[in-house]
Amino acid sequence: MDCIFCKIAKKEIPAEIVYENDAAAAFLDVNPRSPGHTMVVPKEHCATILELPAHCSEGFIEAIKETARRLQRALEPDGFTMGINHGRVSGQVVDHLHFHIMPRFEGDGGGSIHSVVNNSPEESLGDIAEKIRRLDV
Ligand code: AMP
Ligand code: ZN
Repeated sequence: MDCIFCKIAKKEIPAEIVYENDAAAAFLDVNPRSPGHTMVVPKEHCATILELPAHCSEGFIEAIKETARRLQRALEPDGFTMGINHGRVSGQVVDHLHFHIMPRFEGDGGGSIHSVVNNSPEESLGDIAEKIRRLDV
């Protein structure tokens, strides 16, 4: 498969890998939105977190935590914005699951996760919650 993040994880193409374990690799984003902007990817290909194999989940989360710990120690940011663009509508360009870790600094001009969309629902919270809960039955 011609997947750029699979190739990075297998070290077939260069990237600034900053951490890896058996399940995941973390590398600097080539177009960083902040100093230390890093992406954590599972080594096994999957497009989104919904397809992440169960045997990779723990290692993937561990890699996210350890990468954040190391970014904190190395760059001393004031905080982080972390997240996933899931699907084209959200801005996902590379179809290999990747978790963005963006170090944040006081006065960096960025917003919160809430600033990426402003599409308040017309339905009540109760109606929406019921649609989700009834999947359990
Ligand atoms: P997304 O919009 O969530 O799919 O983000 C894809 C990210 O991958 C972007 O932030 C790109 O800058 C980054 N990216 C694409 N190709 C590479 C690469 N070869 N090495 C590092 N980062 C990359
Ligand atoms: Zn891939």
